[in-house]
Amino acid sequence: MRTPLVAGNWKMHKTPSEARVWFNEFLDELGPVPSEAEIAILPSFPLLPLAAEELAGSGVAFGAQDVSAHDWGAFTGEVSAYQVADLGAKYAIVGHSERRKYWREDSALVAEKAKRALEAGLVPILCVGEELEVRERGEAIPFVVNQLLDSLAGVEPGDPARLVIAYEPVWAIGTGKTATPGDAEVMAEAIRSALATRYGEGFAEGVRVLYGGSIKPENFAQILAGPNVDGGLVGGASLEVASFVALSRLAVGL
Ligand code: PEP
Repeated sequence: MRTPLVAGNWKMHKTPSEARVWFNEFLDELGPVPSEAEIAILPSFPLLPLAAEELAGSGVAFGAQDVSAHDWGAFTGEVSAYQVADLGAKYAIVGHSERRKYWREDSALVAEKAKRALEAGLVPILCVGEELEVRERGEAIPFVVNQLLDSLAGVEPGDPARLVIAYEPVWAIGTGKTATPGDAEVMAEAIRSALATRYGEGFAEGVRVLYGGSIKPENFAQILAGPNVDGGLVGGASLEVASFVALSRLAVGL
């Protein structure tokens, strides 16, 4: 049985004081954190110590939006997975399409980042997804499966609970367009079957596969209905307390 996960990717938003207000309002409005689903916030690096402080004991997890492919050393501007883990973080996104696009991160680099995250004790949330042209050519599934397998080269999580895959079609991120629930499910199933080939059936059954791309309270329930979709990676709708509370409640209904 996979525990649904709703993870809020705040991207480069919120000052520390805005984040403090958000954490307090969110925990107040949500009430007791349900055990049937997991909720995580992924703020930018300077907000991580605050997340550790404000979310302590709440049951809401937190994590980073990226980590370095290096463990330690003379890499100015980089942030080590070990630094993130030491704050009490659980997750680290790797391979988000914005990093693949704007920083030209390729799947080989993403695999190195996933390895560093695992070595440090973090659970990587590994993002994959196709551009619109690829979908229009009818090549979305082979593209995403290849991207996934390349991004997992040499990555050995051991336990399926230590890996999360987020299917995020690039054309759906921040655009207001979403994959149909049917397309999200078909892709999640293809991802799970690629994981079965790579790691074995039992492992693949335990990995959570999220959908991401313009999730809102109005469309989340239909997306979650797919048996292979285990939650959501949420950008814009995680910035407002009300919508993220609504999404967290919908995940419990899974
Ligand atoms: C994301 O960036 O991971 C994302 C899914 O963003 P949005 O929900 O805003 O489309």
